[in-house]
Amino acid sequence: DETDLALLEDEEIPFEEGPRPGLPVLAVIGRPNVGKSTLVNRVLGRREAVVQDVPGVTRDRVSYPAEWAGRDFTLVDTGGWEVDAAGLDASVAHQAEVAISMADAVMFVVDAVVGPTATDEEVVRLLRRSGKPVVLVANKVDSQMQEADASALWSLGLGEPWAVSALHGRGSGDVLDQAMRILPEVSGVAGDLPEGGPRRIALVGKPNVGKSSLLNRLAGSERVVVDSTAGTTRDPVDELIEVDQRPWWFVDTAGIRRRVHQTSGADFYASLRTQAALEKAEVGLVLIDASEPMSVQDTRVIQQVIDAGRALVIAFNKWDMVDEDRRPLLEREIEQDLVQLTWAPRVNLSALTGWHTNRLTRALDTALSSWDTRIPTGRLNAFLGELAAAHPHPVRGGKQPRILFATQAATRPPRFVLFASGFLEPGYRRFIENRLREHFEFTGTPIEISVRVRE
Ligand code: GDP
Ligand code: GDP
Repeated sequence: DETDLALLEDEEIPFEEGPRPGLPVLAVIGRPNVGKSTLVNRVLGRREAVVQDVPGVTRDRVSYPAEWAGRDFTLVDTGGWEVDAAGLDASVAHQAEVAISMADAVMFVVDAVVGPTATDEEVVRLLRRSGKPVVLVANKVDSQMQEADASALWSLGLGEPWAVSALHGRGSGDVLDQAMRILPEVSGVAGDLPEGGPRRIALVGKPNVGKSSLLNRLAGSERVVVDSTAGTTRDPVDELIEVDQRPWWFVDTAGIRRRVHQTSGADFYASLRTQAALEKAEVGLVLIDASEPMSVQDTRVIQQVIDAGRALVIAFNKWDMVDEDRRPLLEREIEQDLVQLTWAPRVNLSALTGWHTNRLTRALDTALSSWDTRIPTGRLNAFLGELAAAHPHPVRGGKQPRILFATQAATRPPRFVLFASGFLEPGYRRFIENRLREHFEFTGTPIEISVRVRE
């Protein structure tokens, strides 16, 4: 049994594929002026002239080959990236998000003299969601007297803040040693980089909820490509549509545009279409008509998305038809109808007027990033250990099943395998699922938990 568990732990590490895995990637992130570049400079030594602090010079490289304590890795430096002054917080967060997604491990630099800011907290949320290992650098601790400033950063909830003076070198060796400890031997991201590409959305919902209207509204004049199979007269299958300055694939839009649903047997056909679209998509955007009561058909479409294991966003359309004074009541009704789906992001909008359609991308991003999330085995087990200690499984027939070990077996969507010493009651499983969702912020993704009983 012991060996089984050890093997499992190895399997959980996602970077085994590929005969020549890339070097692990360490990203240095943080707000402007916290000392990222100074720290990067320490790692690279003075040989990289580009890292020098020359105002107005925009560096075009973001990653550098680096070596520390005899280990080779790739260092991603976000210090030179332009931050647009208009939306400082948003762009810091956005850059951090990109850097995190590129990295196997992260050095998060905070200015210990300034203390944690709202932007820092935002970055912490992104880090949590990513599940990537992090070392928290409390920078600008130039003297022993300032150690207390570093301690204040425990409040960020990222574990021990490492007191460092990147400028004078104080503590910088120790923090880099720590970074080497959390950095995996082999990269799990290097091989994935070219995959990227626009995210794939299935816009689904029962007939007449406004799918075609929403598609037209989003496409508007901004549609960048209509991808039909070249040289044929077939309808376009997938469309690349730019929403909020970013391209997204809307898959299987042909059925929506052809309005085939109005023929007989429409129900079955529509649900088949939905199925096919979902198979090609990463996220299901379920459209519901807010001007009518929710129907079984609506719930069935939502269920299809969940069963397909896709990320889920629910949009209530035709909000313009709902009287101003009825809106709060309707919100409450919807809340009740969807009481088991509080985890799915919701957007109220109007395809007709365009109202709130700009809120879709944020909801989609949230759902997709949850869908992609991987929780490291250590963190998962630490969390479950605490949870089970505080809320043990009820004793049944003199026995009390215990959770022995857990691992995340897959992402997209997240799947967890729990090893337990006995059968876990459905109620207790739901409890675990809900707490997992809360704790790791799984917003907009189904998650699966399977339990294996070890006698
Ligand atoms: P970045 O924008 O995050 O890359 O920050 P920089 O590395 O460019 O540093 C911003 C400013 O903080 C520069 O003037 C650095 O000299 C200064 N700085 C960086 N690290 C330290 C430190 O450990 N102590 C002190 N006192 N100043 C630092
Ligand atoms: P689909 O069958 O889901 O593609 O729905 P359509 O886009 O064909 O829309 C069905 C009907 O609802 C059409 O008459 C649309 O004009 C109307 N409609 C769609 N969106 C809205 C909206 O936001 N507000 C209002 N008032 N009507 C809408």
